[in-house]
Amino acid sequence: MKSTGFVWHEKYMWHDTGNALGVLPVSGDFQPWTHFENAETKRRLKNLMDAYGFTQKLKSIEPVYASVDQVCRVHKPDYVAHIKALSADKGGNAGESTPFGPGSYEIALLAAGGAIAAGNAILDGEIKNAYALIRPCGHHAEADRGRGFCIFANVAIAAKEFLLRDNINKLAVVDWDVHHGNGTESVFYNDPSVLTISLHEDSLYPYNTGTINDRGDGDGEGYNINIPLPPGCGGGAYKQAFESIVLPALNLYQPDMILVANGLDASTWDPLGHMMLLSNHYRHMATALVNAAESLCDGRLLVCHEGGYSAGYVPFCGIAIMEALSGEESGVIDPFSRYENHWHDVQANQQAAIAAARDASLELLEAKLRSAV
Ligand SMILES: [Zn+2]
Repeated sequence: MKSTGFVWHEKYMWHDTGNALGVLPVSGDFQPWTHFENAETKRRLKNLMDAYGFTQKLKSIEPVYASVDQVCRVHKPDYVAHIKALSADKGGNAGESTPFGPGSYEIALLAAGGAIAAGNAILDGEIKNAYALIRPCGHHAEADRGRGFCIFANVAIAAKEFLLRDNINKLAVVDWDVHHGNGTESVFYNDPSVLTISLHEDSLYPYNTGTINDRGDGDGEGYNINIPLPPGCGGGAYKQAFESIVLPALNLYQPDMILVANGLDASTWDPLGHMMLLSNHYRHMATALVNAAESLCDGRLLVCHEGGYSAGYVPFCGIAIMEALSGEESGVIDPFSRYENHWHDVQANQQAAIAAARDASLELLEAKLRSAV
């Protein structure tokens, strides 16, 4: 039996972000160039899977269009209607740095619906875990505006749907995109039924969010963990952050399912981040969550594609994660793995940042969980 699901649709690649200059704060004449977030990274990952016969080792999950009701559990109806109207015309900008062309409204519904379909297949027991290769990305989108190339908050919309099930009361979202998961954080900031954990480059994007002091509010206090990391982190820092914060937090919280906002822009070749992860480091993080899910929630783990802008390297990171999820081999050898060196070990300044994030989060989470019993 194939235990790992895979979501893909050709229409994801038809979301047109156009010219990068259209969203940059520049004036004057410059040669146009392709927007950082374009189809190529995702298409090359799918092509690599197909070329090595890996796609057929996963169970294909057909995405569905999320309904307006499902989307409006996270977004304001006016915002959704605004995107629909722009999309039906010539396209536009969903808010901050989120350009799109005609038809992207439906594609964004299909992205959120892809996450929902994959999670439903897991919760129905058809598969153990899944990788949703969806586009556009979602973790920056807020209730009333798109941000950072994200139109609808795919992971948050899917999480809201899963929480309607009788046996699903607590979810955890682990966001390892190099940028802060501000949108997901904002949706669940007052909600103890979703533990949100974001590992991100400190002060990158959005530049003023994602600090260790943003720990949730009201009933949700303690259930939001930010792990801002200095630029230059390699696998060693991420491993330490996992071992000292992410995994202990999951063990404390005991989620019924784990969701991952899977940004591949913490890779060493990414043009929009300054981290140094190689494909094996993503593999290690995915394996850690496979094991955590196995011990905590019958293996229920949903990985949703987010950022990642190196067309050359995203495919190797993505397929390494899918190998970890499925236990299947692709036969792909990452030609860049030889670039690992001592700078990938955890450095003193990185240890200090991780310790500060741990001190700000774990005790509080433990206290809140104890008082909630
Ligand atoms: Zn990102």
